[in-house]
Amino acid sequence: MLDILDNLQERYNAKDFALCKKAYDFAKKAHENQKRASGEDYFTHPCAVAKILADLGLDASTIAAAFLHDVIEDTPVSEGDIKKEFGDEVLQLVLGVTKLDKFEFTSKEEEQAENFRKIFVAMAKDIRVIIIKLADRLHNMRSLNFLSHERQQRLARETLDVFVPLADRLGISQIKCELDDLCLKYLEPEFYEYLSTNIDVMLKETEGLIAHVQEELKRLLADSNIKGEVFGRRKHLYSIYKKMKFKNKTLDQIYDLVAVRVIVRTVDECYEILGKIHHEWKPVPGRIKDYIATPKPNMYRSLHTTVMTNFGKIFEIQIRTYEMNHAAEYGIAAHWKYKENKKDENELDSRLSWIREVMEWQGGLKDSKEFLNSLKGDIYSSEVLVFTPKGDVIRLAKDATPLDFAYNIHTAIGHRCIGAKVNGKMVPLNTVLQVGDVVEIITSQNSKGPSWDWLKIVKSPSTKVKIKQFFKKEMKDENIKTGRSMLEAEAKRRGVNLSEILTDESFLRIASKLSFTSQDEMFASVGYGAVSTNHVIVKLLDFYRKSQPVPEVSTFVNTKKSGSGGVTVKGMTGLLVRFAGCCNPVPGDDIVGFISRGRGVAVHRSDCPNLKNVENDRLIEVSWNNYASTSYNAGIKVIGNNQTEVLTIVAGAVAQLKLGIISTNGRTDSRTKQVIVEFSIRVGDKTELDDLIKKLQQDSKIINVYRTTT
Ligand code: MN
Repeated sequence: MLDILDNLQERYNAKDFALCKKAYDFAKKAHENQKRASGEDYFTHPCAVAKILADLGLDASTIAAAFLHDVIEDTPVSEGDIKKEFGDEVLQLVLGVTKLDKFEFTSKEEEQAENFRKIFVAMAKDIRVIIIKLADRLHNMRSLNFLSHERQQRLARETLDVFVPLADRLGISQIKCELDDLCLKYLEPEFYEYLSTNIDVMLKETEGLIAHVQEELKRLLADSNIKGEVFGRRKHLYSIYKKMKFKNKTLDQIYDLVAVRVIVRTVDECYEILGKIHHEWKPVPGRIKDYIATPKPNMYRSLHTTVMTNFGKIFEIQIRTYEMNHAAEYGIAAHWKYKENKKDENELDSRLSWIREVMEWQGGLKDSKEFLNSLKGDIYSSEVLVFTPKGDVIRLAKDATPLDFAYNIHTAIGHRCIGAKVNGKMVPLNTVLQVGDVVEIITSQNSKGPSWDWLKIVKSPSTKVKIKQFFKKEMKDENIKTGRSMLEAEAKRRGVNLSEILTDESFLRIASKLSFTSQDEMFASVGYGAVSTNHVIVKLLDFYRKSQPVPEVSTFVNTKKSGSGGVTVKGMTGLLVRFAGCCNPVPGDDIVGFISRGRGVAVHRSDCPNLKNVENDRLIEVSWNNYASTSYNAGIKVIGNNQTEVLTIVAGAVAQLKLGIISTNGRTDSRTKQVIVEFSIRVGDKTELDDLIKKLQQDSKIINVYRTTT
């Protein structure tokens, strides 16, 4: 194993080598006494992976991460340990690899394989993570013979479906070809056996001819005064297997078992020597390919031609520059190859970001379009791919929520959804799903059906249609009647008549907020419980009060004179200033003043939804000023599983931060059984409020916390 260190010492400068050596020692200790299936020390595996990556020319951070790639998963070493010893860059690489390890690809369907590749790429934020993963897989495939037959088949299949295409797209043909052949060995053992023995026999027969062609080519180079080299290379078995299988050829019908390669210094020389070759030997029609003018999607560049030699044998000849040859072998990894010559520290970073840019770029450049699409897909623009607990991939619209997921699985699952887990943790139903999330839906037979609020949460139009269809069925006269009298009663309880606050105009205003299309729809949904009476009446009252000449008296909490402390109105003194009760601004919030008729200026948070529809000329610039001596009321909503628990936790946090609770108001959601408690909290400024919210968010018993506006 020590030879890997010698190898690294030769390749890297002192500082980089020191990093590699440190990772080597660290991983060796961490994996001490662990064994592989082969009986070897486990540590031989990370060493082999590091060696593959060093041969590809990757940077020292990648090599360090390669040594460490299994320690988080398989040893007691923690993330913090790695961060402390090796810094964030190495940690992120290790975490990236660890995260990808969690997915086992099981489906055999072609489309799922494509999805899986996309997830893979999208989740590995740094392209080096994928290259480490490829090296990891390559070494695991090399030592596959120690595993059970079943496991061999599964890994080989997965390698062929997921890893080989990735290596191909990244242009790393060295890894791709070796993986190809290893897959063939385990998936088609008889074919593999047949090919490897027979090819050797055929190659023996043609050995002399190949040597002759190479000599002729060297002569052509010398005659044309072009400096270059000539190599003969056997094609890898899988490419021959593919030709036999899909083009229905027998082994002796394949005339390009060996590719002869001519490597020169410039593009001009490539074309020049191609002309000379065609002058010497007749080209086979339709077999000339110019991948220099039109590179392959993975950036492969070369000239290919197949010629009939004057001694009656057909050969394929590839012509390229040294640079192209290098890129063909190493693909994207070639970008790290000569890092030792780097001029400044940031060069690698800029190269990395360039690669990302290229990979994420959606437009233009025809040649690489397929490359980009296949690699990045439209993940970043319009869709997100997530897993079911069984590992099936579900394709959803970008920003989709667990509800979209539930309805995507089955409408009935959506209707009965009462909660969701993402990656094993309970989450609110409006959580935005991320690529690669494992989503589990919790349903209940007792669920009465979707909630009207869901229409605002769900992302996909088809989910909305499904929810609306459910509500349509409930549009019965009976529900409409019940809903109307429920609203009338609630209005009366608050001292108004429903007919007074529910007008065509006010309905139009709240209809868009609540996604209703008609008053009957609103009554019906109240009638069977999809929307609470409170919800509707508060909105109606709010609109009603705003349209009244003397509004909002009760909603103002603190009253102050402008300039005397708290808030200053731009360019004015002596104005009455009030704080709006709907959004309860506190010092530190972005604020704006609303000039109310005859009642001075009401100060709102600038993101207060109630300001959305007011005329701009009634808004005025205001700012915080000398507020330290006063306290302010702010509203927060806390969601948990148990009311006493929520109260205890919030009271504890408030006491600890030396704030005060003004009021609380709790209820239980009939569908989710979650407890929702609204608090009015006395704070000095926004920082104090933010501290409280952060503290509550950190408590595992609290499901969600947010600041409220009514
Ligand atoms: Mn590994």
